[in-house]
Amino acid sequence: MKILAKKDLLNVLKNWSDSYDIFAPGIKETGDIIFDRFDENTFTLDYGKPSLPQKSEVLPQNEVIFELKNGEYGEVITGNGKMLFGMRACDVMGMRQMGSFMTRDVTDPYYKSKEEGILKVVMACAGPQSETCFCTTVGSGPFAEKGFDLQFYDVGDEFLVEAESEKGKKLIADGPFGEVDDAEAGIRIEEFKTNASVSMEEVPALKEAMNRLRDGSVSEEVWEYFGRKCIVCGGCAFVCPTCTCFNVSDYVTRPGEGLRTRSWDACLFGGFTRETSGHNPRGTQALRLKRRHEHKLMHYNETDIQEGLCGCVGCGRCSDYCPVHIGTLEVVKAIAEA
Ligand code: SF4
Ligand code: SF4
Repeated sequence: MKILAKKDLLNVLKNWSDSYDIFAPGIKETGDIIFDRFDENTFTLDYGKPSLPQKSEVLPQNEVIFELKNGEYGEVITGNGKMLFGMRACDVMGMRQMGSFMTRDVTDPYYKSKEEGILKVVMACAGPQSETCFCTTVGSGPFAEKGFDLQFYDVGDEFLVEAESEKGKKLIADGPFGEVDDAEAGIRIEEFKTNASVSMEEVPALKEAMNRLRDGSVSEEVWEYFGRKCIVCGGCAFVCPTCTCFNVSDYVTRPGEGLRTRSWDACLFGGFTRETSGHNPRGTQALRLKRRHEHKLMHYNETDIQEGLCGCVGCGRCSDYCPVHIGTLEVVKAIAEA
């Protein structure tokens, strides 16, 4: 285990930026806090929960996957050598879940090439970052158990720093990172973890909703109620760290040349499941909302993806951003209370 004085962090990031393209939280001129290219003048540790997860680093909102030039097809596989500094544990779990989906039966090369180049540096949460966080209920936080390179624990004037990967170990091998006795660090980290976990509010309605979905006792009226409210903006899917739906489009750019792209899609859009015949097995917004929540809260568990955890990592962003309040928190509450 290593230790770093907080006052040395900025210099460490500046040194690392010689070798890595670092993305980290920063305060913009508008006052918004977003993950962006590291800038020592705007960098902040007081960033709470980033408004967006970092999923676009591995599944860009829009990417070219094939190119046709001079009559020849070529795959476009790009890497990603970024360091994501300050990821939250729920987003690391989101990336793990996304990785499980993208590599389960067939490895998606476009995803894989990006994911394996990324260095994930987690800032463990000392408590909830907003009133919609529910990571402890789904076992994704407030600290990461695996799937990271480095994890920082803020313990006052210092960070205790844990490395999971060889790349991570090399980064903190020397310099301002000092050695700390493992037993002593272990006690401080356990104390950090206990305090963090007890400060998180559990959402018993989530487990209740999962049980009701599984035993088929959720009234269709719940879905009809939410279906009438939904304005089909797709926001809940776009801010979700575990949503992976995409569409594929072909474009002719000039005679003999073209592109195949893939871009984010959402299961709440009518066209997502519409078949060529015109038949749509999810023909109403109520059915589409039902499907979305069954997927998040039931099917992941059944197929034991990510060791039986559910497909929602409890980041609460769908509740933060849905303009008509149809986040997972609102839905599970409605199911549990129906
Ligand atoms: S379903 Fe909502 S709370 Fe769950 S991971 Fe997605 S955005 Fe976060
Ligand atoms: S964010 Fe809300 S309104 Fe928009 S598609 Fe999702 S559930 Fe519907």
